[in-house]
Amino acid sequence: MDDELEQPGEDEAPLDDDEREMLHQDLVDVQSLKELLGPKGIKGVVFYCPDCDEDHYLAWDLLAGNLRELLDAGESPVHEPAFEPDPDEYVSWDYARGFLDGYESFEQEDAGDTINRIILELRDRGWTPEQVKSFLAAAHLDLRIGEEGSAPGGS
Ligand SMILES: [Zn+2]
Repeated sequence: MDDELEQPGEDEAPLDDDEREMLHQDLVDVQSLKELLGPKGIKGVVFYCPDCDEDHYLAWDLLAGNLRELLDAGESPVHEPAFEPDPDEYVSWDYARGFLDGYESFEQEDAGDTINRIILELRDRGWTPEQVKSFLAAAHLDLRIGEEGSAPGGS
């Protein structure tokens, strides 16, 4: 056990399984959010950073990179805010997660209607069915094109 000689990037990560699982889930969420919110002009998430006593604006890719680095190295990377961010283009993590939760609960409750609207909107933009499918898959929306949403237990 060479605790004092541990090297970044080695397989020995100081994160426990729960933390890794949470980080991994965050990473998945960030990818979904980038797909869902990016087209709406939302470029990333703003975090208040107590160390710097200021808000940090993290674009999706930067945020994903930070999470990967945390997963790989178990260390929070250096603070690297976006360059001259426009606050209007960033949302809070709570908002982003709420947005995603909304999608996921729609998926469980009334997926058909929501997904149909998304599909119509994307087709409106000239997306091919294949593009729509891969988009929804990337966003973890369970896709059933051509089937009416039948909510189990609903009326
Ligand atoms: Zn900071």
